[in-house]
Amino acid sequence: MVLEAPGKPLEARELPEPKPGAGELLLRVHACAVCRTDLHIVDGELRQPKLPLVLGHQIVGEVVGEGRRIGVPWLGWTDGTCRYCRAELENLCDQAQFTGYDRDGGFAEYAVADERYCFALPEEYPDLQVAPLLCAGLIGYRALRLTRDAELLGLYGFGASAHIIVQVARHEGRRVFAFTRPGDSEGQAFAGELGAEWAGGSDESPPEELDAAIIFAPVGSLVPVALRAVRKAGSVVCAGIHMSDIPSFPYELLWGERVVRSVANLTRRDGEEFLHLAPQVPVRTTVTAFALEEANEALNHLRRGELHGAAVLHLSAAG
Ligand SMILES: [Zn+2]
Ligand SMILES: [Zn+2]
Repeated sequence: MVLEAPGKPLEARELPEPKPGAGELLLRVHACAVCRTDLHIVDGELRQPKLPLVLGHQIVGEVVGEGRRIGVPWLGWTDGTCRYCRAELENLCDQAQFTGYDRDGGFAEYAVADERYCFALPEEYPDLQVAPLLCAGLIGYRALRLTRDAELLGLYGFGASAHIIVQVARHEGRRVFAFTRPGDSEGQAFAGELGAEWAGGSDESPPEELDAAIIFAPVGSLVPVALRAVRKAGSVVCAGIHMSDIPSFPYELLWGERVVRSVANLTRRDGEEFLHLAPQVPVRTTVTAFALEEANEALNHLRRGELHGAAVLHLSAAG
């Protein structure tokens, strides 16, 4: 499925089988989860994607000719030499290439990936269930680490990432307060089932002061809302790659050494740590499967907030 230009639906195309370069693997794609970032690319909210583009950066596939199963995440390549790479911040590499953005991704039957950025996947998980761990899980995990030892944690936006991270946070002994779109009682019930001790609308105040909050929803107006809910020295971590503008707010909300920060991309170390941790929790993902040809429907469901958990494109095992 190919994006020719932002603002247009993806189009089904027959493409030549991609040719792996030096150090790259050719994969037959089994599954590829859909991420809100894909939606931002389709909607033209991110700077220059490669065009035409095959989206998809949560790829589960088997190496052609070998049969071993691997995962391909958002971080597709780094230069290894810039100041960020040298400081163990390869997620911020000046020359980074991202899967399904600068490089063709996994909304396709075949994909190529640089082997150094691929992950071994925990065997306990079937293809569909492991796919959302590769971005929803990984970026959520990096965001969770940035809240440090916060015990009372707020999650704003209860989509694919939050439904994974609530389980990890509970496993670590944290208490989780989930915020959904106002009136989304199904989403609130879902959060409760997964371990949130309180769930309400983002227009509600949590029953206790939070130590930290993670904002997964791409909604800038949630930044002052979350700041109001966290205690002194607490942090608000914005986990999305794109957000609507943040409205001005009184300095008083930031006062008291509160911190607002973003989380960007992932490092390979995040991936290794998280994929080791997930089966121990054990994280269970809730997925809705779509056929490859239904990629536009999957994106539309995500846009309308109609999914519980993650959407995953499932390629038939035959062929
Ligand atoms: Zn993603
Ligand atoms: Zn670099």
